[in-house]
Amino acid sequence: VKRPRLPRRDPELGGIEAGGTKFVCAIGRGPGDLRAREEFPTTTPAETLARAAEFFRRRGGVESIGIACFGPVDLHPGSPTYGFITSTPKEGWRNVDVVGAIRKGTGVAAIGFDTDVNGAALAEARWGAARGVDSFIYLTVGTGIGGGAMIEGRLLHGRMHPEMGHIRIPRDAASDAFGGVCPWHGDCLEGLASGMAMRKRWGCPAEELPAGHPGWAMERHYLALGLVSFICTLSPRRIVVGGGVAQRLDFEGLREEVRRVLNGYLEEPDIVSPGLTGNAGVLGALALAGKVKA
Ligand SMILES: [Zn+2]
Repeated sequence: VKRPRLPRRDPELGGIEAGGTKFVCAIGRGPGDLRAREEFPTTTPAETLARAAEFFRRRGGVESIGIACFGPVDLHPGSPTYGFITSTPKEGWRNVDVVGAIRKGTGVAAIGFDTDVNGAALAEARWGAARGVDSFIYLTVGTGIGGGAMIEGRLLHGRMHPEMGHIRIPRDAASDAFGGVCPWHGDCLEGLASGMAMRKRWGCPAEELPAGHPGWAMERHYLALGLVSFICTLSPRRIVVGGGVAQRLDFEGLREEVRRVLNGYLEEPDIVSPGLTGNAGVLGALALAGKVKA
């Protein structure tokens, strides 16, 4: 029996982009429907989380809230520290119960929680450059480097969550004496190719490095080495590369370098820019809110 479909709008969702520098809170249903939005700097956990909870309390009416959070975070539902930021280098934010504070502060029980990059991946899958693609990677190349993966329609978590920025990268010390900026690994991918690495290596931020500067060829080379590792381990159909440094990247040059490193063994997947530009982070949080049941 065919039942008539009642006109029904998607529920109103809340999103928190919890970043190391700023928090963005919003209410809405997607990119075309963001009604309330507020951003403020990340200060102490108590002050920042109270301010985020206040935002939703004041407006009311959201069925669920998604939090796309900087990390590392504990995403394991059975764990006593589920919903916590765990071992972050960010001062004062170690072992902070983010989900608990928002749940308590807003009275909203349904809270979706994931890494900022998994949130961004989910938003790209719903509304952006990965629509209709069941297996893809979202990589952000900004101040740091992070990656989220959706494999066969599911966000990849495993024991914790992937930390794609910290894979080891072969570096030829004869042609590149710069030892990298990662406090844990030195010359991992983030240590060599993040915005922070570019600034330290070349003495100016990536945005100011001219297009033909050798730093860009080196950047494409290191990113290609990273992407090839992800291609060989996760077999993505597409790779979305976002973030501040990626905005200045020559994508055709990057694809070429990936092909050169793969050396004909595999065909490279699509390598594309994000479909969502403004509000990408908080849209990721809204997408996470849409995944939890109220
Ligand atoms: Zn590292």
